[in-house]
Formats: sequence, C-alpha cells, structure tokens
Amino acid sequence: MRVTTTVAGYPRIGPNRELKRAVEDHWAGRGDLEKTAAALRRDTFREMNGLDVIPSNTFSRYDHVLDTIVMTGAVPGRFRHLQDPYFTMARGADGIAPLEMTKWFDTNYHYLVPEFTPGMRLTLDWRKPLAEYREARELGLETRPVLLGPLSFQLLGKGGWVLDGLIEVYAELLERLAAAGVTEVQLDEPVLAADRTEPELAALHRVYERLGDLNSRPRLLVSTYFGEIGPALGILAGTRVEAIGLDFVAGPGNLDALAAVGGLREKALVAGVVDGRNVWRTDMAKAMSTCAVLLGLCDRLVVSTSCSLLHVPLDLDLETGLAPEVRSRLAFARQKVAEVIAIGHALNGGPVPAGAAIAPAHPREVSPASARTPFEQRAKAQLDLPPLATTTIGSFPQTAEIRQARAALRAGTLSPEEYEARMRAEIDRVIALQEDIGLDVLVHGEPERNDMVQYFAELLDGYAATEHGWVQSYGSRCVRPPILYGDITRPQPMTVPWAAYAQSRTRKPVKGMLTGPVTMLAWSFVRDDQPLAATARQVARALREEIADLEAAGIRVIQVDEPALRELLPLRDDAKAEYLTWAVDAFRLATGGAADGTQIHTHMCYSEFGEIIDAIADLDADVTSVEAARSRMELLDELRAAGYHRGIGPGVWDIHSPRVPSAEELTTALRRAVSSVDPALLWVNPDCGLKTRAYPETEASLRNMVTAAQRVRAEI
Ligand code: GLN
Ligand code: ZN
Repeated sequence: MRVTTTVAGYPRIGPNRELKRAVEDHWAGRGDLEKTAAALRRDTFREMNGLDVIPSNTFSRYDHVLDTIVMTGAVPGRFRHLQDPYFTMARGADGIAPLEMTKWFDTNYHYLVPEFTPGMRLTLDWRKPLAEYREARELGLETRPVLLGPLSFQLLGKGGWVLDGLIEVYAELLERLAAAGVTEVQLDEPVLAADRTEPELAALHRVYERLGDLNSRPRLLVSTYFGEIGPALGILAGTRVEAIGLDFVAGPGNLDALAAVGGLREKALVAGVVDGRNVWRTDMAKAMSTCAVLLGLCDRLVVSTSCSLLHVPLDLDLETGLAPEVRSRLAFARQKVAEVIAIGHALNGGPVPAGAAIAPAHPREVSPASARTPFEQRAKAQLDLPPLATTTIGSFPQTAEIRQARAALRAGTLSPEEYEARMRAEIDRVIALQEDIGLDVLVHGEPERNDMVQYFAELLDGYAATEHGWVQSYGSRCVRPPILYGDITRPQPMTVPWAAYAQSRTRKPVKGMLTGPVTMLAWSFVRDDQPLAATARQVARALREEIADLEAAGIRVIQVDEPALRELLPLRDDAKAEYLTWAVDAFRLATGGAADGTQIHTHMCYSEFGEIIDAIADLDADVTSVEAARSRMELLDELRAAGYHRGIGPGVWDIHSPRVPSAEELTTALRRAVSSVDPALLWVNPDCGLKTRAYPETEASLRNMVTAAQRVRAEI
C-alpha cells in the first residue's frame, strides 16, 4: 500500500501576524481585510504543497466555531437584524452582548460559544468552505475542506439541543460540496477525546449513519484529536465514513484501542504522529515504529499531525536568536509539514529521516517537601492584621510610560540604570497611593513585568523566548509562549530587589508576588521528554529558593498565583486525580519551606472552580483570593464544605470592566460575606490584577473598597 500524507490544519495569522493587523485595521475602518486574508490563504496553500492532500477552510477571520455558527445559520436572535453579524458576535456592540468565549479543550486557544435555542431556524450558508476550496483549485490544488463536526459543534454550545437540524444542514452542505467537485471532507470531532455519555455516543452514531448514507457526498474523514477516542472508535468504525483520524501523540492508547477493534478495514486511518500542539521535532524512530504497527492495522494509512497546527508558531526559520542546542530540537508548523512528508517518503521506501536531537536530560529529582505546621499554629506567628484586611492582587495599571520604558530598554535606547530608576519611581507612586488609600497589605505593582509567565521565564535557566513564535489566543489576540526546554534552575533572585525596594518605602507589609508552577507550565511550550510533574517540581524548587530569599529580605507576605490551575485538568475523568495530586504537590513544594511567620497567599481566576475545590483547599495557602465578583460568593460555602478554614479573599469587584463599584454595593457584598465567613479570615480585594485598568477608575474603586471594609469592620 502507498502511504499518503496530510495535516489536520494550519496557522492562520501569517508570519508577521498580518491577520491581526488586517482585522484590527478593518475594525478601525481601514484597509482591505479580504485582500490580506486571500493572500494569507494563498501562501498557506503553497506552503502545504508537497502533502498528498491539503486541507482548506482552515482559515478564519476570527474563529472557526464562529464560522460554523455562520455556516449553519445558528446566529442568535440578538444579532439577526445585522447585515453582517460576524464581528458583532465576537465583540458585541452598543447594547448587544457578544457571544461568550471559552477555552478550546485544554489548549490556549479560545472559541466563541454557540448559543442554541430549541427550535432555532438553521439554514446553510456554504459560501466560505466553497470559496476557499475554489481558491485552492485556482492554484491547481485539490483540497479537503475542514469543518467542525456537527456533534462537537452541538456539544461546545450552550442552550438547546438542535442536533437534528444541524445534521440536515450538514447533509445539504455535503451534497452541495460534492456537486461542486469536492471529493473529500474532514469533519472534526474533538469532543470524542473527553468522556461522553451514552446518549451522546448514540447521537454520534445517528450523525454518521445519516451523513454516511447520503447518496451523493464527498468521502468523509472524521477527525479526532487531543486524546484517546475510547468507545467512539467502535461506533465510527461501524458507519460508512471512509476515514478516521486518531491522535497518537496525546492519545497513545489509541493504538491498543485500534488493535482491540481488529484494526480499520476498508477505511483509511489518518494517523496523527507529528505533534500539532508542541514545538519539538518529531522523534522519527518512534514515529516510524508507530506507523509500522499501524500499517498492520489498516488498509490505507495517511500520515498526519496529531491536531491542527494552529497551536504552534508558523516558522522556525524566522528565529535567529535561539541557542543552537535549543533550536536544533524545535519544529514549528512549516517544519512539521516537512516532517509529515518525510515520514511518508520513508514509509514508501525512501530514506529514513534523521531523528530529532535528544534532549540533554539531567533530571535533577527534587525531594518532596515536608508539610508546614498546621494553619492554626503558624497563623499565630504571622502578621497581626485587622479583620477584613484589605489588599490587591498584585499588578497596578501598566501605563503607557511603563510600556515605553520597557520597549526602549529592549531597543537599547534606555540604559538598564535609567530603566530601573523609572520602575522605582513607579513603585514609589504605587506605594504612596496605597498608603493614602489606606490598604493594609501593599504590593509593589509589578511595573517591571511584561507578563506574569514571560517575566519569570526570562530569568530562569532552562527557558527560551522566541522573537516571532506567535500563536493565536483568540480573534486578533496572539501570544508568544516561552519554551521550557531544559532543567529549570534559578541563577539569581528574580523579584527580591523590587520587593525589597517597595518594602523600604513603607512601614506597611508589602506582599511578594510570584507565578506558580502550574501556571508557568500551562502558558508555555513544555519539554515532553519527562513527565510534566517532574518539570513542575523543578519550577517549584526555583520558587522555593525565591521565597527563602524574599523572607531573608524581610518580606512577610508572599503570593503565589495559580490562575491556570484548572487549565491543565485532563479531559478524561480517570486522569484528573493524578494531575491534581502533582499540581498540588508542586505548589506545596514551592511554598512548604516558608517560615511559620510568612503568610502565603494564592490567587485563582478565569475558572469554574467546581472540579478543583478540593485541590484549592489542599494547596494549604494561608489566604486564597478568587475571582468571585461575578456572582460567585457561593464559592465561600463550597470551599468551607471542602474543609477550607483559612483566609479567603472573594474578589469584591470585577476588574474586567472600567466600572467603579460604589461603596454601598461593596458594603452589601461584604455584609453577605461576613455572614458566612469568620471576619478574621475574610480578606477584601478586587477579583484580579489591575494591570489592564487605568488609574482613575482603579483609585476610585480602591477607595470605595476601603470605605466599605471600614464600615463593615465597625459593625462586627
Ligand atoms: N498577580 C497577577 C496580577 O495581579 C495575577 C494575574 C492573574 O491572576 N491572571 O496581575
Ligand atoms: Zn486573576
């Protein structure tokens, strides 16, 4: 059998984030978005040339789930009067709320959440997949349009069940695409990588029975990724779909599952053996041996990426500043396409490609930390603060001056000494402001941090930064995650000079501010040659050293932020407990060396906390602040039910909007809180850092917060 090659999807933003600029210009009423988009698509098709089958319809002006909403006519009522509702659904308009946004499985991409209402009228709008297919054809390329599968689309949305209507829209789409000459379509069903109920699996069967039985349609590839497919494999194998895509990187167990059903006969297996989500070169020997096994388990093998390359940067060749020993281990999207092609050649009798450079691993196992003394005991040694103590989450507004200073430092037009002087001046101002407002525990304001992960990544050994390694986070927003490639060590203190300086400017306690091990991993590309847990322990060890140095510099309150604790939670239930165990252990390793008298805070946000409540309690922090402003005061009860009886700071106002909460509404919120929490344990703080806010609303809100805390304090 001849082995063929493809990829599941490709980055959309362009080598220099051209899409971001074009979209933002379009919003500002400038430029020609369609022209830039067409050029990007053309380049993408050309770059994938060399694969046997090239995917199309992988482009998006904003988000592929939003595209699917348009394609199926599932536009919620509040947008239907608009002539072109596309960007209004993404961003809202005066008096029209946008669609909600949430994380795409366990990646750092975010999609817009479809809103279904039972009986919703669905109608096909097939212009986009058709146009992109035709664009490629004009270049002489026959492509396979990629569509979000109907089951995943339904399950990613909220509101009603509209699957039967969706199936009919997809059926019409497939018939039309076939008539337009399309020979194969990819239907992505990533929801199959998570646990699915019996009714959901029955729905899967219904969808692909119906679509498979259509008289005239393209061949169907049902593509799954981000994990193991489980019982869905047997169901899909029993339908008429012509090909099934499996992820052998995130779901190594797919191999056994495939063997268990006796392999795929009379269907093609699209084998994701090149990691679409991480930046490492493929271990060619391993990929080849996986494919060798797979050849015995199917009649037709297609080599592919584990998932869309959307999640990796575009081109390693753009990086000139990386150390050779790091660079030689990396592959971005363009390089991964070449890897897929090389594996295909080798399987067809060509030369076996050279393997990836092996990571110089010197695993420095770190011993588990001993537990701190019990909270009741150590609390006596900690700072004596009033009930309803007031504080903030860390960052103060990042002003234009701060950003300019950082840019000038990078450009070499500002000396390190001058930069430091400016940051100190900013700290002076933030400290003076907090004293004037009357906060109890102050912060230095984090002016020196570009980002809470990148800042530490730049100071730790074992981390590298890229210049052009952008990946789409959502819409026009891109991030450049640092690359954790080796053993993590801390060559020198990272935050101590700033914290110590801030403390020297006030008699009030200043809270030190660190990013926790899980968040450091979640927002980076992380080495895959050792378990994540081992890497987390190395980061934790570095933080532990930092905490010791902060203590030695006189800092008595230290916050270790873990906003991403929920984000690495595995998709399948049976893997969750193990993750939460190592995540909690890493936090405790980082903080467990703190003296009794050091008050350890942690902060969490962006999360549905339900599944991680017990883990939050197990972190054993002295104070936990959480994003609770948005109607989540019930979190206090949930935490107590999980056995948490330490300090708690439910965020009292939502910093994501510039609205200034009145002292009256904050007083009401605090009265409610003291009715269920011991005032000695209750902290008063905003629900997240203030870096995206401006000073006027920040100052006004903090003053109202302190007024409210004083009022309620007087009542108890
Ligand atoms: N300390 C960080 C800040 O205030 C926390 C940010 C976060 O929770 N995302 O900016
Ligand atoms: Zn936060």
